[in-house]
Amino acid sequence: MMPEELLHTHNKIKPKQSLVRHTTFRIGGYAQYLLEAKTTEDILNGIKIAKHLGLPYYILGAGSNILVSDHDFAGLVIKIATDRCAVDTHTITVDAGVSMGSLACKSADWNLTGFEWGIGVPGTVGGSVRGNAGAYGSEMKNVLYSVTVFRPSEDKILTLDATNCEFGYRHSIFKANKDVILSATLKLKPGNGEAAKLLIRDLIKKRNSSQGVGNVCAGCVFKNYQLSSEEVSSPILIKNIPPEFLEKSLIPAGWMIEMVGLKGFGVGGAKVSDKHGNFIINHNNATAKDIKNLIAIIKEKIKTHFGIDIQEEIAFL
Ligand SMILES: Cc1cc2nc3c(=O)[nH]c(=O)nc-3n(C[C@H](O)[C@H](O)[C@H](O)COP(=O)(O)OP(=O)(O)OC[C@H]3O[C@@H](n4cnc5c(N)ncnc54)[C@H](O)[C@@H]3O)c2cc1C
Repeated sequence: MMPEELLHTHNKIKPKQSLVRHTTFRIGGYAQYLLEAKTTEDILNGIKIAKHLGLPYYILGAGSNILVSDHDFAGLVIKIATDRCAVDTHTITVDAGVSMGSLACKSADWNLTGFEWGIGVPGTVGGSVRGNAGAYGSEMKNVLYSVTVFRPSEDKILTLDATNCEFGYRHSIFKANKDVILSATLKLKPGNGEAAKLLIRDLIKKRNSSQGVGNVCAGCVFKNYQLSSEEVSSPILIKNIPPEFLEKSLIPAGWMIEMVGLKGFGVGGAKVSDKHGNFIINHNNATAKDIKNLIAIIKEKIKTHFGIDIQEEIAFL
């Protein structure tokens, strides 16, 4: 069968789909093919078809931490839209496509506590496991028990103990390998549903006041800078760092961006948020090129001023 015919036998795969509406930056060219995978079987079939045809494929969650190129993607984008979620006492097993916000609300409905913070992360569980997403002092690794993945190199489904996922600050083993996260198992604590819902409401208010509402962005563009023990003991290496950052061995990227005078600075349709230095906003039909140019300027200024190479937190397609 010819590739086109094979693709058309799978009626969920759609040709030539704009990726703009699949990313929170609202930026991106077209995907040659796009599959909205509603079941784990859809995900596995999509990968199988792409492999069979020699087409590259790319796994997309909610698109809330990614910059998609202005150029078209010659391959299959598999958007993870699986939605099963089940509870057994304090253990939740959840599909990769479930949104962090809905999982936070469900865990409160189930009188569980420890995942209220998830309300502020506008991504999927899969994307958040990969990046060890976190907020308000908590992160995925604190609540994860295991992760089930499809490992293309071995053509198998595996369940990994969370302790073997090499979680670190916005890092996991999945950033280095090609595993596709299918589902996750979380262990939470028994709590009071009403108190959990109150906390969720408070966190929403806190977010809205610190980040602004309705911004078209992809969250934090850069990772905060983790100081080495040498840098902490000789703060002279990096100038004018407030003691509270030295104590935590972490310099917020947003603070550095503000210090070099780039808050509000723009390139084309993109600008650094006036509220949050680590957010780049698509405020006027920005292209991926505008965002990339702005990222390059920020990195260069921070290197010149602080002698630090900051790294992007966002992914690129
Ligand atoms: C307004 C705003 C606020 C935010 N606040 C926070 C915050 O407080 N804390 C925080 O940590 N993040 C925050 N983010 C960033 C973002 O929501 C998280 O990084 C989130 O975890 C990304 O999930 P996603 O599903 O959108 O991933 P995507 O952006 O779709 O993908 C990101 C990367 O993960 C990969 N990926 C996605 N799903 C899978 C999967 N199932 N298997 C394998 N790889 C996969 C993709 O290939 C890509 O490389 C914020 C973003 C926005 C827009």
